[in-house]
Amino acid sequence: GDRTARVDGGAGEIGELAKSFNAMSEKLAETERQRQALVSDVAHELRTPLGNITGWLEATQDGLAEPDPHLIDMLLEESLLLQRLVDDLHDLAQADAGTLKLHREPIALDDVVDQVVNAQQNREILLRAETTPVHLTADPVRLRQALGNLVANAVRYTAPGGEVVVKLFQVKDRAVLEVADTGSGIAPDDLPHVFDRFWRADKSRSRTTGGSGLGLAITRHLVEAHGGTVSVTSELGEGSVFRIELPLSHQR
Ligand code: ADP
Repeated sequence: GDRTARVDGGAGEIGELAKSFNAMSEKLAETERQRQALVSDVAHELRTPLGNITGWLEATQDGLAEPDPHLIDMLLEESLLLQRLVDDLHDLAQADAGTLKLHREPIALDDVVDQVVNAQQNREILLRAETTPVHLTADPVRLRQALGNLVANAVRYTAPGGEVVVKLFQVKDRAVLEVADTGSGIAPDDLPHVFDRFWRADKSRSRTTGGSGLGLAITRHLVEAHGGTVSVTSELGEGSVFRIELPLSHQR
């Protein structure tokens, strides 16, 4: 229901006050709706892995499942999922509170690209980097995380035999990182939502192929904390290109 308080102050100064009061209380109601939606999304994301862990442990206790290495693998996989979700939520909470600290140092961005590409090598997708040397002052751990999310998605949403290319180049006073894939692509209607928290194109399918829908939201926060921007172009059935632009000199 509508829990927004309203004041009708008529014309004049009181009327103006009433207007700004109404605007304020609508904003509060909206914030409250967002908070409720967030808590509900978090609970939903926690429920599945926790339910699986509990289920398998109970089955083992009842003698219905063997406490074998396969079971340990499954339990570990679910607890890693929980761990990643909690880490992601923590990052976003820090970003919201403005307490996400960057540890800036002079870095070679091409090294960051190489590290991400080497870490995500994969038997089914051709993953390669095309870089030029680019130097800037930035947090290498956070940039690895930001780019890592894009590369993980590109690999995840591309069928075996496909290709993912990570490019790094410089345009004037900006570093440009591009992650191009030959994957599923994203529908035009979906494009504006991909950076939203907990948003996924296909809720049912993504549970097995994807994460919790927080990766791109985190990437955007980390890139913006560096004074940069992230954007996407995509063609359904053809593939996507995610692009990070970072200023070479950014004082904060
Ligand atoms: P998830 O953990 O679900 O991957 P993200 O925030 O990283 O969450 O991505 C949000 C959604 O955007 C994904 O669920 C997927 O539907 C879509 N998406 C992201 N990257 C790609 C890509 N490279 N190709 C196709 N769809 C993508």
